[in-house]
Amino acid sequence: MGLLEVIEVVDVHLDLCDKASQTFKVSLKWKPRTHRQSWSLPIWTPGSYTIRDHVQYLHSLNISQASNDRQVQRIGPSGWKADLDTLDLVTLSYVIEARQLTVRTCYLDPDVASLCLAAAVMEIDGQRWAPHCLTLALPAGWNAYVPLPGEETFWAKDFDHLVDAPVHAGCFVSQPFVVKKSSHQLLCIGDPPMGWPANLVNDAIAVCNATCCLMDEPPPAGDLYQLVIHMLEIGYGGLEHDYGAVLHYSWRALAEPDGYRKLLQLIGHEYLHQWNVRRLRPREYRPYDYSQAVISDGLWFAEGVTSYLDLTLPFLAGLSDRSTLLKDLSVEFSPLLINPGSQLQSLSDSSREAWVKLYKATPASADSQVSYYKLGAAMAFCLDVRLRQQNSSLTQVLRDLWRKFGRSHRGYSRLDIKAAIAKIDPNTANKVDAWLDQPDSLPLISIVKDLGLRFEERYSNKRETGLTLVEREGLVLVSRVAISSQAHHAGLVVGDELLAVGGFRLRKVDDLCKLISNEQPVSITYSRRGRLSETALFSGLPQVDHWEIVIDPEAPSELSNLRDRWFQII
Ligand SMILES: [Zn+2]
Repeated sequence: MGLLEVIEVVDVHLDLCDKASQTFKVSLKWKPRTHRQSWSLPIWTPGSYTIRDHVQYLHSLNISQASNDRQVQRIGPSGWKADLDTLDLVTLSYVIEARQLTVRTCYLDPDVASLCLAAAVMEIDGQRWAPHCLTLALPAGWNAYVPLPGEETFWAKDFDHLVDAPVHAGCFVSQPFVVKKSSHQLLCIGDPPMGWPANLVNDAIAVCNATCCLMDEPPPAGDLYQLVIHMLEIGYGGLEHDYGAVLHYSWRALAEPDGYRKLLQLIGHEYLHQWNVRRLRPREYRPYDYSQAVISDGLWFAEGVTSYLDLTLPFLAGLSDRSTLLKDLSVEFSPLLINPGSQLQSLSDSSREAWVKLYKATPASADSQVSYYKLGAAMAFCLDVRLRQQNSSLTQVLRDLWRKFGRSHRGYSRLDIKAAIAKIDPNTANKVDAWLDQPDSLPLISIVKDLGLRFEERYSNKRETGLTLVEREGLVLVSRVAISSQAHHAGLVVGDELLAVGGFRLRKVDDLCKLISNEQPVSITYSRRGRLSETALFSGLPQVDHWEIVIDPEAPSELSNLRDRWFQII
């Protein structure tokens, strides 16, 4: 007969009708190629580099052929296999508990479904690169939004394409918006008490347009891009996808003076990820291995460069000004100057150790680790200033890497980044290894000075104890003790419950500074492992709370000229 090939498809069906149970049924159907068939659930979600063991929310697994159940053998925490008598169509079904409301997990309640399919759909051995076809059974009156081609049946070219597509469903409607002639969809989920910002659509368009100007081309997702903003009481997060982004933001944060600008920066951050990280990706993540942690020293470029540039997007969009941009950079860089972690952990190690450190950080982590988002943004800033001095820019390097490694979906390595920088500035390219691998090696303070700017310290109005406290279930607990601080010398440790200060009951975190208003030592009554004790706590003068980047009025004109060029960003 000839050349006709039967395209084999994996059918994926999600049944969301039992919404009140906060569970949904998954069934997959496919034609097996071998009699021994294995399959597994991803243990992590791309974009969020830590093991999440999504399988903990899975139960009632069954596999059948022609209505006959087949015996299943577990081969790992997230993997199974079955020996099949025939190569007839296989049906695999199971239930997912959907009670985790994050951008990287699954959530379902009587009003809304927000599903990250990497946490729900099995990878069938041998079928990863086969087309996957998605259908949904929805509660009455619900609409579904999936950034995949199709209307009732959605088509993904392979497993990666499918699990990268977030599924949202409920009674809400989407709003169209256009960026560089591509029509996108905006889904606003939730009801902030003050209402949604009146200019959100127009300002989001301006920020997305500015992002396209940075990359000098229209959005690679084209007409499929779907921006989902879920406005919650508490929560913050974003997850990038090839054809959209899911954002969680809190209306409490939105009501803060900088809250709306930070939301626009988050929108821009995820929009820029269409290029940097989704399609232009560290080589280690091409393709993704969903079965284990995959370390890379390139996450600083993926997240640090994106974090640096996202701060500039409202400014580039005409929604902010120079002094606000300097303020935002100050907030980003200030922790690097204050927390000791940047003296211990290098930027490349922060990237590699994301799996076990950044995503599991506690307040005490500030003493031993540094965020590759923040230090990566500082690295991006330093590179940008150095490249400006050669009449170029970081965005030029990003576009160069995009053309070589992004459009073709090849991964990049550190050598590729260094080569792109070396074409413009070999001296700076030679410094990249040290800045990445040696803790505390980035000359941030001197590079800020090169722009005719300087860091100025701002002091706290509270007396210093070195204690960081947290309220949990009505208890005031120590969450960090700064090294060599007064609290350290008083013998307090993380986990101690503070009960009283100078004989007065402590109920709230803020009570502490009210009760230690002078230099006299105070007695602290605390509970450790259920036993009460007392210690004397001294307090010191207020310490530096944060650093601000300000314009140096005495800077020579060549520095202020460089600063003017740097403010062009692109
Ligand atoms: Zn990001």
